[in-house]
Amino acid sequence: PLAGVDLKQHIRGIPDFPKPGILFYDISTLLRHGPAWKEAMRRLAETVRPHRPTLLAGIESRGFLVAAPLALELGLGFVMLRKRGKLPGAIIGLNYALEYGTDRIEMQADAVKPGDRVVILDDLLATGGTLAASIALLRQAGAEVPAAAALIELTSLNGRARLGDTAFEALISYE
Ligand code: 5GP
Repeated sequence: PLAGVDLKQHIRGIPDFPKPGILFYDISTLLRHGPAWKEAMRRLAETVRPHRPTLLAGIESRGFLVAAPLALELGLGFVMLRKRGKLPGAIIGLNYALEYGTDRIEMQADAVKPGDRVVILDDLLATGGTLAASIALLRQAGAEVPAAAALIELTSLNGRARLGDTAFEALISYE
């Protein structure tokens, strides 16, 4: 029934979060609307399927909300990419630069095997720093990353330019 709906109706912009001057795109309103959430996952499945993933990866934490239902929909497994210190066992990780300081993304060392085709999911692409580091980490582990996708892309930050030859798909875009 929502096949033609504009999913933007279900996203709200919240000014001055998490800091003054930042407009935060809140996906909570999409998540809490059953039919719209289901339609978003249906569209994302359609966009991701042609890249023929063998595994999906989600970026902590809102990326988990996208990757896990999509993995079920596509009949695939799901791998967690997490902030530092959250995962048990043998870990590999990568530091990446933020506007101020650095951050680190980690995954379990045995999460992927060479030849896996991993599509990475997140809720939103801004500068692309988080996603670029995630792609590099998965490649370091021997996986191919044919594509990445998100619910939302902030186009004026041109994050997709940082993704190399990994394709990028988004359902909703803002300037
Ligand atoms: P980037 O590394 O592309 O600059 O930032 C993207 C990351 O920051 C994503 O993991 C995303 O969850 C988070 N993020 C940044 N801005 C927003 C926003 O306006 N809304 C939401 N939902 N997430 C954001």
